[in-house]
Amino acid sequence: MKRVALFLIILISSALSQIQFEDYFLEKTMRVDYYHVGDVNSKIIALDEIREEPYWGGPKKNLIDRFNFGNFKYEVYDLKTNQLIFSRGYSTLFAEWLTTPEAKKVRRAFHETVVFPFPKNPVKLIIYTRDEKNVFQKSFELEIDPKNPFIKKDKPFNFSSFKILNNGNSNDKVDIVVIPDGYTESEKEKYKKDLQSFVNLLFNSSPYKENKSNFNIWGVEAYSKESGTDIPRDNIWKETILNTSFYTFDTERYLMTEDNKTLRSIAANVPYDLIYILVNTPKYGGGAIYNYYSVAVADHPTFEYLIVHEFGHGFAGLGDEYYTSQVSYEEFYKLNVEPWERNLTTLVDFDSKWKNLIDQDTPIPTPPTDEYKNRVGVFEGGGYVPKGVYRPMLDCTMKSRTVDNFCVVCKNTIQEVINFYCEK
Ligand SMILES: [Zn+2]
Repeated sequence: MKRVALFLIILISSALSQIQFEDYFLEKTMRVDYYHVGDVNSKIIALDEIREEPYWGGPKKNLIDRFNFGNFKYEVYDLKTNQLIFSRGYSTLFAEWLTTPEAKKVRRAFHETVVFPFPKNPVKLIIYTRDEKNVFQKSFELEIDPKNPFIKKDKPFNFSSFKILNNGNSNDKVDIVVIPDGYTESEKEKYKKDLQSFVNLLFNSSPYKENKSNFNIWGVEAYSKESGTDIPRDNIWKETILNTSFYTFDTERYLMTEDNKTLRSIAANVPYDLIYILVNTPKYGGGAIYNYYSVAVADHPTFEYLIVHEFGHGFAGLGDEYYTSQVSYEEFYKLNVEPWERNLTTLVDFDSKWKNLIDQDTPIPTPPTDEYKNRVGVFEGGGYVPKGVYRPMLDCTMKSRTVDNFCVVCKNTIQEVINFYCEK
C-alpha cells in the first residue's frame, strides 16, 4: 500500500513539475476582482473586473499550492488542455465577517481579489469555498481570454517605489510590499524610518532571522491627505489612502481596511507576494488574513510583537493560540471539524497535525504543568476558546505578546512557506 502511495506521489509531483512557466504565462500579473456578497445562509461571487498588472513577483516553478491553507482556494486551468497550471489558498475578511452576529441579520458585499501570472492563452478560473466540514466546494467559474480588449491596463495608483531590503530576483524570494496608511507627504521620512524599523524587528524573530537573505522588502510612496486612521467609536475619521479603521467588526483593536481595490492597485507598483499595511498611529491594533494582507500600527511599544504575530497569520496561515481576549466571533472553529490551521487542532484529525513531534510518554491532552513547560504537547485552549481547541506548546508568539517565541509547529510552518516562495 505504501509503495502504491509513494508511486502516486512521484507520479503526481513529476506531472506538476512539468508545468513550464514560459509555456503558459507572461511575466506580469492577471488580477481578477470580484464581490463576495451574502450572509450566513447564502453567498455569491460576482465578477467586478479583470486587470493586467506590470510585474509577477511570485515563484515561477512552484505554481501549484502545496499547503491547503485558507477558507478559499483558486485554480487556473489551461482551457485547451484542461491542465491545472496555477493554484493558491487564501482567506478573506468576508469569511471572518460570516462568523459575527451581524452576518445573521444583514447581507453585505466585500471586495476581493485573486492574482496569478498573466496567461498566454485562454484559461478557466475556479474559486472554491470550504463547506461546514472544511471540504472545498466549487463556488465560481470563469473563462478568461487574455486577449479580451476589456482587460484593464491603466494604473489608477501609480506611485514611485523603492526596495528597503534587496536580496535579488523576486521570483525566488519572499517579496513583502509594506504600504503606508495615514502618513502624509510631510511624514515621508517617518514612513521610511518606520519601514526600516519594520525590517530590523521582523528579522529579530526565528525563523525569519535565519532567512533574511530570502526576503525582499518594498516600500511604495503612497501618502495620505491626513495623518492617523479612523477610530469610529471615538468619532475620529481621517482621510487616508487605504481607508484603514479600528473597530473592525466592532472589536476596538481590530484594524483593517475594506478598500481592497485601492490596496491592490497600490501593491501593483512592485512585484509582491505579500501585502503589509503600516498604519501611522500610536493606538494599539492590527490584524491579518492568510494570503490576503497584514496590518500593524507603527507607534505602539508592542510594534515588534505586532509585526511578527500578524505576519504569522498573513504569511503562514497560523491561527491565534490565545483564548482570553475579547473577539466578536461566534464559533470561529467548529469543534467537530479539524481546522485547516497547522498550529491548532480539535483532535478530530490530529494525525494530520503535529503528532509526529510529540514524545510517546506525553499525554494527549497535555496538562499545563511545569513538567511540560518547554515540550510539544496538546494543550487545551486556543482559537479564541478555552475548551475544545488545542495548541502545540504552552506559549508561542501566536498566543502571548512575546517576540522570538514561535513554538516549533509555527516555526516549521513558516519555514515551509518561505521555502515554497523561494522555489525550494
Ligand atoms: Zn505556535
